[in-house]
Amino acid sequence: MLTDAPEDSPATPGFEELGITGPVLKAIKDLGYETPSPIQAATIPTLLSGRDVVGQAQTGTGKTAAFALPVLERLDVSQKIPQALVLAPTRELALQVCEAFESYASKMKGVHVLPVYGGQGYGVQLSALRRGVHVIVGTPGRIMDHLAKGTLDLSELKYLVLDEADEMLKMGFAEDVEQILAQTPSEKQVALFSATMPPQIRRLAQKYLSDPEEISIKSKTATGTNITQRYLVVSYAQKVDALTRILEVENFDGMIVFVRTKNETETLAEKLRARGYSAAAINGDVAQVQRERSVNQLKDGKLDILVATDVAARGLDVERISHVINFDIPTDTESYVHRIGRTGRAGRSGDAISFITPRERYLLKHIEKATRQQPAQMELPSTEDVNTTRLNRFDDAITTALSETGRIEAFRDIVAHYVRHHDVPEGDVAAALAVVAQGDKPLLLDPANDPLSKAVEADNRPPRERGTRDAREPRTERRGRGDYTAYRIEVGRRHRVEPRQIVGALANEGGLGRDDFGVINIRPDFSTVELPANLSSAVLEKLRDTRISGRLIEIKPDRGPGARRSGPRDGDDRGDRFERRDRPERRDERPARNGDRDEKPFRKPRHKG
Ligand code: AMP
Repeated sequence: MLTDAPEDSPATPGFEELGITGPVLKAIKDLGYETPSPIQAATIPTLLSGRDVVGQAQTGTGKTAAFALPVLERLDVSQKIPQALVLAPTRELALQVCEAFESYASKMKGVHVLPVYGGQGYGVQLSALRRGVHVIVGTPGRIMDHLAKGTLDLSELKYLVLDEADEMLKMGFAEDVEQILAQTPSEKQVALFSATMPPQIRRLAQKYLSDPEEISIKSKTATGTNITQRYLVVSYAQKVDALTRILEVENFDGMIVFVRTKNETETLAEKLRARGYSAAAINGDVAQVQRERSVNQLKDGKLDILVATDVAARGLDVERISHVINFDIPTDTESYVHRIGRTGRAGRSGDAISFITPRERYLLKHIEKATRQQPAQMELPSTEDVNTTRLNRFDDAITTALSETGRIEAFRDIVAHYVRHHDVPEGDVAAALAVVAQGDKPLLLDPANDPLSKAVEADNRPPRERGTRDAREPRTERRGRGDYTAYRIEVGRRHRVEPRQIVGALANEGGLGRDDFGVINIRPDFSTVELPANLSSAVLEKLRDTRISGRLIEIKPDRGPGARRSGPRDGDDRGDRFERRDRPERRDERPARNGDRDEKPFRKPRHKG
């Protein structure tokens, strides 16, 4: 069931009517809370009844009390063992939630609430855990560390709250969160709160919550802060190829591609269809009936991409649109704001990607002003990114087909018959079938033959980066917000590390903000990350103990283009691997893209309201 809790309901019940009693009621009265906020009115009775909850609400709506009050109301203070665990994306939020718990429990006797986050010494946390606590509020990484060390007993856990779940996933904690969910008692109650509801959050809720009540708080201000803006500097001639790459690697549902002219809607839609995408053009010349038909097809999932002009897309409201691409950037910011507002509908999150030719860079300033957000520069997905996505899809297709047991059964005998009669290993038969399924189109792009990446890289590289530098000096770059120094950490692609995991771990351990991160560069065996040049030695000391994917990162200033100076050069490395293996066996050992760089910009996290 979906409850749309109105922002101002006419006769809001008091906290008593919601089921809050005794010392908890007294505490919130003392805090001056008179009436429950909408999220509290909708969530508290549901949680008190024992049901799981998925709540879509932003910070500032009173969601902390919405989950904290029902937990405290049912806490068994005589049992000094963790009964409630709240997972939060950052230590700031963890501390804030902890303080809120303490204030709501101020009239109860002997309630212990413990914050557990990265960056703080283990000693404090261990002794508090030994003394006994009722509620733990922590960041996923550190909670996982304690679980791995056996220093945290969650066997009696009754309540688990995921606060700002979308942020946790964006910071790379998906795996930790899932492991924690899986390692806690199955009969616990779970409440998940998130400002946006992207598909991963829905999947998480489906997998780990049982028949949750969905509660959504309509925010009065629909400012589109759930839309992530990015831009790619690309020359006009490269736009179609760049779009094709983006289509390959972005996880999109429905998409609108904006172009400047009517003619271009038709030609681009045609080119996309030729590349195998279901795309249609809408422009002012297309008859109204036909336009409506296309929009309905997009809604129903029969069509994935609409190529449109501003006029034709006016007021379009299709929830499925996950991405807006400004193939041609509009020159007026009003159109820009309207265009990107076609995504992120109904509280979902959305992505807007703008193609900017080198001469159009000045428009970014206007966009930033109009949207009060700084669009993040993205890089063209590399051939390696495309190949990784293709291999993932290939694997997924196998997994899906294997679940169709009836059909698998029918073919098993046929394959077995072939194996018996031709005396070939089953693996070869499977590979042969893949060849049949794949047809003439190669499964993977050839990284050695990738003129596009080089052309787009050249467009993106500021001239000063081509200069020479003393390789013994740590690299320091001057940016708009201040100086950055590049650091090297000993986790890389081989350890399946992603930029957001690096951000999540370093932010938590070092108390860094997201603006503190510059370019993150993931290489096969290590990575480099740009951090503020003025990092204190105390922070660096803390970062040195950080683990990512279980490995100590051993952070140190990156002395020059280390990839080429330490160990075999990338080019050699790649050539070597290709020669020795005709089939890369492990995805994380796949060679880096040809050329010198394998750089991923840190994707700016979505802003929240
Ligand atoms: P939160 O969204 O949980 O971060 O809460 C935002 C702010 O609203 C916090 O300062 C709370 O103390 C405050 N608050 C939460 N619920 C109420 C309420 N029912 N009445 C007044 N203030 C509240």
